[in-house]
Amino acid sequence: KTFKTGSGTLFGKQRVVKAVQDVNFELFAGETIGIVGESGSGKSTVGRCLVRLIDPEAGRVMIEGADIAHMSGAQLRNQRRKMQMIFQDPFSSLNPRARVSRILTEGLIAHRTSKSEAMEKARALLEMVGLDASAMGRFPHEFSGGQRQRIGIARALALDPSIIIADEAVSALDVSIQAQVLDLLADLKTRLNLSMLFITHDLRVAARICDRIIVMQKGRIVEVGPTGKVLHDPDTAYTRSLLDAIP
Ligand code: ATP
Ligand code: MG
Repeated sequence: KTFKTGSGTLFGKQRVVKAVQDVNFELFAGETIGIVGESGSGKSTVGRCLVRLIDPEAGRVMIEGADIAHMSGAQLRNQRRKMQMIFQDPFSSLNPRARVSRILTEGLIAHRTSKSEAMEKARALLEMVGLDASAMGRFPHEFSGGQRQRIGIARALALDPSIIIADEAVSALDVSIQAQVLDLLADLKTRLNLSMLFITHDLRVAARICDRIIVMQKGRIVEVGPTGKVLHDPDTAYTRSLLDAIP
């Protein structure tokens, strides 16, 4: 994917950034893959291509054998439902004027679940992410960052997805809350047999939750392997430098 940017150029010429190149990988059912790499290495762009927030200029995204670029509207809606994203700052993605009950039920109701069934499911989701049912009547700003992230996770799970894409999902949280949310995600992915693409700049965070790790640098994959191998016996100096940066 190339982005044309107007910034930092002379004579109004556009600078072209190749955000992602030759990125090939497979995510298996029930597997968690981490994508790590320094800022600007293309991690989020990969995630966004998968959910079709952006379309790659070349290459394909296949889900269960089907190319997402060639799906009909109905197929794509169904696909979107199966693949949910969790963002860094749930505050910016949770409607500030909606109560949690609406945040958790609107997707279900749009997919023709009855209001009462949706409300029941919302309460079950809250319990699943470790929040009390009394959260239903409250607004996003009435929660802490960690609690908001739990609401974001509950919303992502509402439509029974099979794939979760978490982009810096715990990066804004302090370390102890980070650990709690990571434990929650680890528990949910096992219980629900979710596939997860876990995007983070923090190799330590990836190590806690991922089966395999992809290391990206300047838009390319420079290393991919089982988490233990990447952490303890990395192939590249770049990965070693990421490891050395861990305090
Ligand atoms: P970070 O860790 O900071 O989130 P990242 O690895 O997620 O970084 P991307 O957001 O994928 O990186 O960006 C990859 C490259 O593409 C960067 O050079 C970035 O500046 C550029 N880029 C991303 N989105 C756009 C856009 N909408 N317009 C122009 N350039 C963009
Ligand atoms: Mg990013």
